[in-house]
Amino acid sequence: MTPSATAVELKACPLYINGKRVISSGPKDVQHNPATGEAVAEIPRCTPEEISAAVEAAHAAFPAWSRTPVVQRCKVLFKFRELLETNAEELVGLIIEENGKTREEAQGSFDRGIECIEFACGAPSLMMGDTVDRVGTSVDSWSTRYPIGVCVGITPFNFPFMVPLWMFPLAIACGNTFVLKPSDKVPRTAVRMVELAHEAGMPPGVLNLVHGAKSTVDILLTHPHVRAVSFVGSSAVAKYIYQTAANNGKRVQALGGAKNHSVVLPDADLKSTVSAVMGSSFGCAGERCLATSVVVAVGEAGDPLVKELVRAADNLTVGNGCEAGTGMGPVITDEAKRRIVGYIDLAEKEGATLARDGRKDPVCGGNGYFVGPTILDNVNPDSRVAKEEIFGPVLSVIRVKNIKEALEVISRSEYGNAASVFTRSGGAARQFTQNVTAGMVGINVGVPAPVAFFPFSGWGNSFFGDLHALGKDGVHFYTETKVVTCRWPD
Ligand code: NAD
Repeated sequence: MTPSATAVELKACPLYINGKRVISSGPKDVQHNPATGEAVAEIPRCTPEEISAAVEAAHAAFPAWSRTPVVQRCKVLFKFRELLETNAEELVGLIIEENGKTREEAQGSFDRGIECIEFACGAPSLMMGDTVDRVGTSVDSWSTRYPIGVCVGITPFNFPFMVPLWMFPLAIACGNTFVLKPSDKVPRTAVRMVELAHEAGMPPGVLNLVHGAKSTVDILLTHPHVRAVSFVGSSAVAKYIYQTAANNGKRVQALGGAKNHSVVLPDADLKSTVSAVMGSSFGCAGERCLATSVVVAVGEAGDPLVKELVRAADNLTVGNGCEAGTGMGPVITDEAKRRIVGYIDLAEKEGATLARDGRKDPVCGGNGYFVGPTILDNVNPDSRVAKEEIFGPVLSVIRVKNIKEALEVISRSEYGNAASVFTRSGGAARQFTQNVTAGMVGINVGVPAPVAFFPFSGWGNSFFGDLHALGKDGVHFYTETKVVTCRWPD
């Protein structure tokens, strides 16, 4: 983003404090449509007073909300879900405009976000405790889950709708109140969601929204009323969030970056493997924390695979996500484009074979932030392009002799978000699943994104904390347990 421009009529980006729409008095940045480069909105950096007011509002709303019966809390979320569906077209359009996704990708992320609300609506059962009769003579014991207080969510640019929904519906269904700080690159989808949550009957102060980047986050991480912090973003920031929030006595789940591998064995079905790898590597322009960034081709799988991947990439239509037939959209900013192109330049220097050079695609010369699908072959497993998160449409191919070598390549990664294997062999799939050092594993699946009923369970530097987002982990993260030991004479 560049400093504020006044020449164009830009959309405002309000915050929400205690159920009220507020225009920030802080400095503003300009948001650009990544597909056209046009300035579209002014994004504020909230003042410290605005951020504190949001936390205070959440703190004040907590006693009443935590005592509201869980079924009542879920009724608000049911209505919220319904309103999101009613406004789906507008929200999908916003995701495309802010983030650059294709319509199909934006709709897919919308559907996965809705699934998170549906999961949260199960809070009456999810929050159930355990009971054991007669743990001693005339003594029974049971555990009960309680909400913890003010929770904060800090989200990345790549899923403006879905990632905030990993957090606040479940936190709120469990009886907590919430302050959301969406990505400063894509905050307007979150604004619309928070508006609709209030229309659905969310009481004032239960869900608040602030904007900004590090300075906003730092206030949230240290505020004495904040009990828990959920973060999704890059690993360096995730580690900082984890350390800072934990040092300030908060519970933290911080999901970080990734470098995901897909291992292709010689017996894999070529057609479906190519389709899955294409979707995983170039879907969402490679800006997905579960994207395949490295294909590890085993033995004779390599040559036909690279040939077919290049052919498929040549046939991918790169352009504005709002146009029908677009297969891949832009990356998020001009800065991101330059970083990604820098990695392709580096790959050449590091001796990789440029099987397909996305820098040369005509669309890259326009105003949007486009990089064509790029395939690097014969990549050295110890090179920087093989090891660092590029977060763009660049796929590295590493050639190895057998599955053991493939597993070794993966085990040397500092990350551990996801890994997939493509094979027809149950034994090989089992060997892979049991030995791979990643928390989300695909078997003939390119993007092994767990449904909301399971935790989003990265390993290594892809996650800092103990309890992951969603699934039972998510419920445990947003609640604390009370165990009662009770004696009544028989
Ligand atoms: P980012 O780390 O730059 O920003 C994430 C959030 O942190 C934003 O809200 C941003 O405003 C804030 N932030 C940025 N710098 C900060 C700082 N120094 N101190 C405090 N807050 C700061 O990430 P991004 O570029 O928005 O998103 C892409 C990254 O997110 C990739 O690394 C991707 O792998 C990761 N990601 C991970 C998952 C996962 O589940 N593990 C999911 C989606 C995205």
